[in-house]
Amino acid sequence: MRCFYHREKEAVGICKSCNRGICGDCASEIPDGIACLDRCESLAMELSALISRNSRFSANTRRGGIEYTAIGIFFIAFGLVFAGLAAFSTAPRFIGGNSAMALLFVAAGLASFIYGRRINRLWAPRSQGDSDAV
Ligand SMILES: [Zn+2]
Ligand SMILES: [Zn+2]
Repeated sequence: MRCFYHREKEAVGICKSCNRGICGDCASEIPDGIACLDRCESLAMELSALISRNSRFSANTRRGGIEYTAIGIFFIAFGLVFAGLAAFSTAPRFIGGNSAMALLFVAAGLASFIYGRRINRLWAPRSQGDSDAV
């Protein structure tokens, strides 16, 4: 591949903005790639900033984290209901069964809750709207 601006030169990479091959003299380094010097620099930087800010992946992962947290709380609540049933049961059979269910739900709930929290924390510094000052 040749440089778009210098046909005699070999391109070192592709501009992030216009996707043309560019040589070392024409390339300007931007945070996550190269862009045509003085031509696409600012546009390419805006473009990559936009992509990282509105990344589908990060948005979906974050939403997933919130869902995990919600499911975790839901499961823990279920676990507490079973724990209450166990506490008020008179037959040993029910006490054992309800205690086991309570433990199972609380354990699953906690795991989901912690996992969700970890995802939320992971993405929190990247989002611009939310503030960490709580
Ligand atoms: Zn360009
Ligand atoms: Zn060139």
